[in-house]
Amino acid sequence: MSKLTEKVAAFCENHPTLYKTILLVENMIKKPVFSCKSCGQCVMSYNAFTCCMRCPKQLRNGPCGGTRDNGHCEVYPDRRCIWWLINERSKKLGRQGKLKKYHVPVDRRLEGTSAWINMMAGKIEGWSWGKDLNEKSE
Ligand code: SF4
Ligand code: SF4
Repeated sequence: MSKLTEKVAAFCENHPTLYKTILLVENMIKKPVFSCKSCGQCVMSYNAFTCCMRCPKQLRNGPCGGTRDNGHCEVYPDRRCIWWLINERSKKLGRQGKLKKYHVPVDRRLEGTSAWINMMAGKIEGWSWGKDLNEKSE
């Protein structure tokens, strides 16, 4: 993590109004566009810009194995399996290599916080500003 991004994140965290404004803007974009569930640890850039937290089991390394033959979810048969969608979109975007990355389980302590600021602060495990720490294993 670069010292500069850590300083920017710390500045935002120490100024509640600024922090709330950034969080508001982040939510205004990510909730309607990506159905963001505010996990605070965004992994969409690995998942063809599709939020995996829409999975009812909230799997970060899906699918669960119960995906139906028609690509629908085992929990909600009327919905597409989100990991089926992620795979299809990754194929279309030529980003299937990104799916090889293992993601640590979601840290519930970060729920409702700003993923943008958490990223800058280095609070997202396995992720460093401008560098994927798991890249060697891909
Ligand atoms: S991965 Fe987390 S932060 Fe990113 S869109 Fe999904 S719920 Fe929101
Ligand atoms: S079928 Fe897909 S969306 Fe449904 S629980 Fe399993 S991984 Fe999640």
